[in-house]
Amino acid sequence: MLSLLLAGVVVGQGQALQLSYPTEPGLTAVVVGWSGRAVPFVRRDDQWLTTVGVDLDSRPGEHAVNVTFTYDDGRTRGHREPITVLQGQYPTTELTVEERYVELSPEDQARADREGAETTAIYDTFTPERYWTQSFQVPVQGAKDGRNFGHRRVFNGQPRAPHAGADLRAGTGTAIYAANRGRVVLAKDLFYSGNAVFLDHGYGLYSTYLHLSAIDVAVGEIVERGQRLGSAGATGRVTGPHLHWGVRILDARVDPFSLIGIGVP
Ligand SMILES: [Zn+2]
Repeated sequence: MLSLLLAGVVVGQGQALQLSYPTEPGLTAVVVGWSGRAVPFVRRDDQWLTTVGVDLDSRPGEHAVNVTFTYDDGRTRGHREPITVLQGQYPTTELTVEERYVELSPEDQARADREGAETTAIYDTFTPERYWTQSFQVPVQGAKDGRNFGHRRVFNGQPRAPHAGADLRAGTGTAIYAANRGRVVLAKDLFYSGNAVFLDHGYGLYSTYLHLSAIDVAVGEIVERGQRLGSAGATGRVTGPHLHWGVRILDARVDPFSLIGIGVP
């Protein structure tokens, strides 16, 4: 019988997780229903693997996902698997930024809305190819801090969306490297994010690099893990120079550090 490694999955809000099953004779495909999509597993040696994420604001408690196994004789078998989401403990941070990033002019509001629609369309795109085969790495050399993912934020006294990435200490000009292999799908100046690079790693997984002082890559390019994307800076809505590193998986906002260590054996 198939052993279900998913049994008893417990995960915090805003965390990436890797689902895996052992191979078995005749098994040709494994697919999980996640966030309204049929997400395929990839086979590596004796495992079937896929990477999914639990959004920062997912409801804590019991959830379930449907997994479908397909065999070479055409037979399929479904399984419903419970997943427990634990409440994240995220503090509130008060920040002071230029007033134009809090009380937007009509022109800036229109621009922010347009760019929001553009980035949503990117996250809604599912590329049916997994570009990466190695584990993710931190995009600033030697960075160990920046674990402010999920903080509830108040800008100039006004509550705003929670912090959907991790801020890494990086002075202006510090080299920023791709966390993994992927395709550049956005490389330009955005109102809130400043100079931004978005990478599509495939299977609905995206990483973002914001507030850059310079961008060294162009849309459409495949970048390798560790390739330089640009330089850290203080563009957009910031209190000072740093790198904002973000990760989305099937539109779930997850802590990028939860991806570190997830790799392919
Ligand atoms: Zn940030």
